[in-house]
Amino acid sequence: MIVTIDGPAGAGKSTVARRLAERLGAHFLDTGAMYRGVAAAAIDGGTDPADPDKAGELAETLHLRFDWATDPPRLLVDGIDMTHRLRDADVTRAVSDIASNPRIRQMLVRAQRWIGGQHPNLVSEGRDQGSLVFRDATVKFYLDATPAERARRRTRQLAESGVEADEQKILEQIVYRDRRDMSRKDGPLIKPDGAVVVDSSEMTFEQVVDALYEIVQTALAGAGSGA
Ligand code: C5P
Repeated sequence: MIVTIDGPAGAGKSTVARRLAERLGAHFLDTGAMYRGVAAAAIDGGTDPADPDKAGELAETLHLRFDWATDPPRLLVDGIDMTHRLRDADVTRAVSDIASNPRIRQMLVRAQRWIGGQHPNLVSEGRDQGSLVFRDATVKFYLDATPAERARRRTRQLAESGVEADEQKILEQIVYRDRRDMSRKDGPLIKPDGAVVVDSSEMTFEQVVDALYEIVQTALAGAGSGA
């Protein structure tokens, strides 16, 4: 069973995917963390993330691995836990360059498919999971919300973790990242064919998880009965 959740920045994909995976007894794959991990490694190692050749070269030398014993799984880059760096502002700024690098995408898509092979019960979230990486997924979701609502949630989330953020700036970053994610040639953010579109703007987190859970259960029951 592979469930994919794609959608724009700040739609709540990670938190929803994580809880859904827990309820389904599946593993949770945060593919954004992989792009962020490469961005962090580039910045910390003095490589310009916007230089496609240098960043691509660096990415190919990196060893990315999730520690599945932790919840959520922690991303290790060359054996070092990078979790604390992934959401930093400099990494968020650099990640669009990394994500639009075809060489890096190819490498990470391959790694994600390999993980899918290792974890046959998986909830995977990102931008291209249903449209490209797991085209044969059991259920595909596209989780959306208005940009204003996504900015509001992200600002509140940051405030809860002690980081003061300007909602207007967050909104600008979200709009910028969406535009780059939707317009790139490789693995653009699209609504995958056959995806169930859920607009969470006026739903609580629990309502979203419940809705997705019910849809997956119905799909599994249908598959089990041969329907
Ligand atoms: O989901 P998150 O905000 O952590 O993703 C960080 C960035 O990684 C996104 O803005 C997007 O550019 C990129 N990404 C991607 N494909 C994925 C997951 C993330 O391009 N499957």
